[in-house]
Amino acid sequence: MEEIVSKPIDEITWREIEPGGVITEAGNARSYHTGSWRSLRPHYLEEKCIRCWRCYIMCPDAAISPDFTNNRMVWNYDYCKGCGICAYECPVDAIEVREEGE
Ligand code: SF4
Ligand code: SF4
Repeated sequence: MEEIVSKPIDEITWREIEPGGVITEAGNARSYHTGSWRSLRPHYLEEKCIRCWRCYIMCPDAAISPDFTNNRMVWNYDYCKGCGICAYECPVDAIEVREEGE
């Protein structure tokens, strides 16, 4: 492993910055509960939902899935990081993004 650069921040070049986002093992996404990062939370407005599945397809964390038994979408908040993409992509505004804890 290379030595960690230790010099004033304004003297560090981009080539010396430590790489981030390194995946050390395949298939480890389940180990990281990205929901703990969340400051915003999507709220499902079921009565407006037309079951187009767009939110399911667009969620980068696979935190939304269709519940066939109850004919609705369900969120897994352990992995939803609150990015708001689902709300942005929903064609009928059936998802509202609110402050966490609201
Ligand atoms: S807010 Fe982002 S991470 Fe959470 S369910 Fe929507 S698209 Fe997925
Ligand atoms: S994108 Fe909106 S309308 Fe489509 S399934 Fe998701 S919540 Fe329902």
